[in-house]
Amino acid sequence: MSRGATPVDPDDGLTTKERRNRPVLMVNTGDGKGKTSAACGVALRAWAQGWPIGVYQFVKSAAWKPGERDALLALGELRGDVTWERMGTGWSWSKATDPSDARAAAVEGWEAIKAGLAEERHRFWLLDEFTYPVARGWLDLADVVDTLASRPGTQHVVITGRGCPQEIIGIADLVTEMSKIKHPFDKGQRGQAGIEW
Ligand code: ATP
Ligand code: MG
Repeated sequence: MSRGATPVDPDDGLTTKERRNRPVLMVNTGDGKGKTSAACGVALRAWAQGWPIGVYQFVKSAAWKPGERDALLALGELRGDVTWERMGTGWSWSKATDPSDARAAAVEGWEAIKAGLAEERHRFWLLDEFTYPVARGWLDLADVVDTLASRPGTQHVVITGRGCPQEIIGIADLVTEMSKIKHPFDKGQRGQAGIEW
């Protein structure tokens, strides 16, 4: 579909080229596996374009050490500009917030993202597991929606996490729901290296 005809001819006054370069807000939600890993797959594509990439993981555990982080940071060393921040370990810029205070850390992370969006710090943003602080009411939903909807320039944003609030789905351009058909966890199989991290 992306290269061929689309089902509708948009009446938006844009040229095909302009339409191809529009900023996309993407959501990977649902209960099935693949939300973060698919988002990181798109980040690889963004890296290949030479775009500055910012990944902000809203995970609580400092023990979570996903391989995709090592991989993208290594690519960033090779060329380009890759930032990877994790809430559970304490945001690298923060000296104030105790990372075990998940709520305060999430608020602080969102404030930095907001400032970064305003100054177009990255071209590709991955807000991983971002649905949780929003769904828990730690972040102001109206502020999140307004900020994302009015972000300047051509900043692509991918949000992952289960239970994405409808208000975010409402302003998103591309929403995928991962649905579980089978998962080894159901048979008591825990996560494994190379597959889950
Ligand atoms: P991945 O990072 O592998 O793309 P994800 O981002 O879709 O997974 P999360 O909700 O962030 O999934 O959960 C992370 C972990 O939980 C992963 O190790 C994943 O395999 C596991 N997981 C995902 N979906 C399920 C499920 N339906 N049942 C049990 N475990 C799951
Ligand atoms: Mg995930």
